[in-house]
Formats: sequence, structure tokens, C-alpha cells
Amino acid sequence: MDICLLSTKMALLLLNKKNDFSKILPNYAKYKMSSKLIFFVLEALFLNILFVIICEEMSDSMSLRAGIVGLPNVGKSTLFNAITKQNILAANYPFATIEPNVGVVVVPDERLNYLNELYKPERLIPTTFEFTDIAGLVKGASNGEGLGNKFLSHIREVDAIVEVVRCFEDSNIIHVEGAVDPIRDIEIINVELMLADIEVIDNRLGRIGKKAALSRDKEAAKEAELLTRIKESLLQNIPVRRMEFDEEEQKIIKPFNLLTSKPMIYMANINEEDLLNEENTYVEAVRGYAEAENSEVITVCAKIESELGELEEEERKDFLKDLGIEESGLDQLIRATYSLLGLATYFTVGSDEVKAWTFKKGMKAPQCAGIIHTDFERGFIRAEVMSYEDLKANGSELKVKEAGKMRLEGKEYVMQDGDICHFRFNV
Ligand code: GDP
Repeated sequence: MDICLLSTKMALLLLNKKNDFSKILPNYAKYKMSSKLIFFVLEALFLNILFVIICEEMSDSMSLRAGIVGLPNVGKSTLFNAITKQNILAANYPFATIEPNVGVVVVPDERLNYLNELYKPERLIPTTFEFTDIAGLVKGASNGEGLGNKFLSHIREVDAIVEVVRCFEDSNIIHVEGAVDPIRDIEIINVELMLADIEVIDNRLGRIGKKAALSRDKEAAKEAELLTRIKESLLQNIPVRRMEFDEEEQKIIKPFNLLTSKPMIYMANINEEDLLNEENTYVEAVRGYAEAENSEVITVCAKIESELGELEEEERKDFLKDLGIEESGLDQLIRATYSLLGLATYFTVGSDEVKAWTFKKGMKAPQCAGIIHTDFERGFIRAEVMSYEDLKANGSELKVKEAGKMRLEGKEYVMQDGDICHFRFNV
């Protein structure tokens, strides 16, 4: 890396001084080499030297967070405990700093197993996801009941909301609202989230509305008009995530971090014996509700998930098999959240490290490089890319090259899920 940096500096020096070339190579006129040719050679050298596979430095890689919410006694802590038990896995990774209410889970990805076999790296680093247990939501939270606004401010920081809904009957476990009724529970929570958004909007409108009226400030007027429109929709029970905005409007509302703008997954918590029962009426009701607002539903038995968390990988598979289930609820949840947020994975590979990186679908190569390190984005030159499928089909990087399937992609390349990249950059 040092040689690389040194050479980079020299190359930069030479390139910057192209009009003063004779000072650096006093005899160059004697050789009668055209300066163009020299620069061409230098540039080629320069690009080759800067062929960087993996940088040791870790940047603030895209950290994704989902917040678990729900009324008391619906199974949030049980689910969260299941997550933190899996967390023992994630704790092996250097970046897993975990607060008491934050659990880091590994995003399951079969492709990493193959890459591990092929490269036998010193470190294998999967992509991860954070779940935050946001306790304290009760009816009236937006008015300060329960943990009130403190609770709501926690939700502002998450990328997606997982709402745990009680769909299990158990007379030993009290329901705060008296009886099991998932739709009533969902509405209690959703109303609180909407009221909190309305409060934020009202506060802002109080200030911006006056400014718009007094100074005839066009931007203020636009913002006031947009916020009023959002408020009217909220009052009609329409969450922000279901409203449509153009690009400019999106920019205006983004900083408000409105709670109902966040993607939502309903997590129907069912009893063990209902796991294979397709006809749970509570779950059906949740599905109907979620469908109407384009949200997703995952069924899970938090209790079982918690037990699964205590097992080794192989035992876990056997246990699931015995239950007749292909994938644990937690894995389904992680996958669903990942896809709900429009996320995909690319890989960096080498003998020292194989690593999965999360990016948002639609991101171009320089932005994706920037997830590893901001310098990678700033000085992006190009990316050498092969697809995971091509690597698997050909069996080695060399064979991928021989088959002509290794691509050099530029700044406009839109990264694809499963891309394996070496980035070239220059800072
Ligand atoms: P929270 O208040 O939402 O965090 O709820 P908890 O996770 O503390 O769960 C409340 C109670 O419900 C605990 O006694 C759990 O053991 C129990 N519980 C959670 N999930 C299930 C489930 O799937 N089935 C049954 N029968 N009980 C559950």
C-alpha cells in the first residue's frame, strides 16, 4: 500500500508538472521522446499501481436499522432476545458495537459459503443488520403516555419499522387492551405514529406558515403547502409512505424523518401449534390489513425463535426440519426487511478477506465504492466486475477472465446484486 501511495504521489507530481517536464527528466529532449507518449506510459503505470482490491480501513459502511415496535406483551422482547442470541455470531465482527437494546444480525447469504470455499480467506465478513428494540409504545404515546416522545424519537432513527402484532392466545399473558385483536392493536400504534407526525408538521407549519405569508418566500410557501397536504392525508388515516411525492418534495420532507414515511413490516406473532396452520384468523386479518396498504406480513413464533437462537447451525436446521419449516422467522424477517428497503449485496474478495457489502439498488459504482471508503468514491476510476453467477459457473477468477466475463465498468455503471468488485481509485 505504501509503494502504491508513493507511486501515486510521483505520478501526480509528474502529471501536474507536464509543462515543466524537463526539470524532472533533464535529458528527455535528448531521447526525443514525445511527452505525450511518456504521459501515456505514466498514466498506464499509474492506473495499474492503483489497482486496489481491499482496503484494510473500514468506513462507516451503510448501517441499516430496523426498529421493533408493538404494544406491551405482544412478544417484542422475546423476539429481540432471539435476535441477540444470534448476535453471538455477529459479535465476532469488529464493527459490532451493540447497545443493550440493539441487536446485530447477519444477513443470511448462501453465496458467501461458496466464496469462502473458493478463496479460503483469513476473514469472512457477512453483511449485517441492526434491530433496535423500541419499548414503551402504549395508547397515548404521542401525548407523553408510557415513554411517550422519548420512544417516538427512537423510531425516527430507524430505516424500517417492524411492528410485532400479537396473534397468539394465552390466558396466562395479559393483553393490555383486554383481548387479542390484532387490527385494533395495529391501529392503536399507527394512530400514535400519525399523531406524532402531525405534531411535527404543526410545529413546522407554525413557523414556516408565517414566513410564507409575511415574506412571500416561494420556498417557504411550497413547503407550507406540502406540509398542509401531508397533514390532511394523515388526518384521513393515510400514512406518508402511501403518499406520492416528486423529487423536490421528497427533498423537502426527508429531514423531518416522519415516522409514517418508514417502510413497515407486520410481524404476526403466533403460537407454536399454529406455525403450520395456514388458517389462523388473526393472521388472515393482519394480511388483509397489510395488503390494503402494501405492507408485508411475516408470521413468526417468537418463542420458537428464541429457542432456535440457542442452537448450533446444524441443530437449528434439524429443528426447523422437524417442525416442517424451511427458514426461520427471523431469517425471513431479515430478508423481507432487506428487500423492503431495496437493498442488494456486492462482494469484495481476496485471500485476506471476503466481505459482503450492502448497497441500495440503483446505486452506481462510485457510490458503492464509497461504502467501503469515501476515498474510493472521491477518486473512483473504474471497477473490475464479475458476477457471482459467472464466477460460480467458471470456477475461478482466472477462468472468468479467460471466458471474457470480467468487465471494466465506469462511473455510470449501476451495480447489480451479486457483483464481485475490485475498485480502482486515485486520490
Ligand atoms: P413484550 O412486552 O412485547 O416485549 O412481550 P414479551 O416478549 O415480554 O412477551 C410477553 C409474554 O408473552 C412472555 O411471557 C412471553 O414468553 C410470551 N410470548 C411471547 N411470544 C409468545 C408466543 O409466540 N406464544 C406464547 N404462548 N407466548 C409468547
